Amino acid sequence: MASAYVVSVARLLREVPAVLEVNVQAPFDAARDREGLDPTASDVPDGAMVTLSLRLESYVGGLRARGTVRAPWRGSCRRCLTTVDGRVEAVVDERFVPERGDADELAYRYQGDEVDLAPLVHDAVFLELPLAPLCRPDCQGLCPQCGADRNVAPCACRAPSDPRWDTLDALRFDVETGGTGIA
Ligand SMILES: [Zn+2]
Ligand SMILES: [Zn+2]
Repeated sequence: MASAYVVSVARLLREVPAVLEVNVQAPFDAARDREGLDPTASDVPDGAMVTLSLRLESYVGGLRARGTVRAPWRGSCRRCLTTVDGRVEAVVDERFVPERGDADELAYRYQGDEVDLAPLVHDAVFLELPLAPLCRPDCQGLCPQCGADRNVAPCACRAPSDPRWDTLDALRFDVETGGTGIA
């Protein structure tokens, strides 16, 4: 079956410069290697719909692709481990050059008059996936002593009081809220 991400660019390559608007909504191609990846890391669910809105422009020697890629993701809250769902929106601005063209390390390749946008879509989405999602900004997490979900009910454990941890917590809070109190 032809991939929805493969686009014919024959006209773009014939009439330089030319523009082609590409709007694709297709399941995420799940054929990728998950080995070595953290199984709790956020990922795009198999079969999830990815939305691609790109503007392809031909120039002498290649194609420029600009636009956005949107995809849903699923992961685990880093504090309480519940499932978290979200969406990424990645802004892309990339170049495609012919397979046999000049060596351009930063550009994607195309063959003949077809461009496969799937590698670009993969890269764009995976760069945007959250590494450590939270179910909500003020998630209380699991009690490190009894394992109870402190979002549901406070447990009877007493938090160990140690001024060093207080300092660390303040630092962490600062990072999470995007503050710049501690440089
Ligand atoms: Zn949580
Ligand atoms: Zn507890």
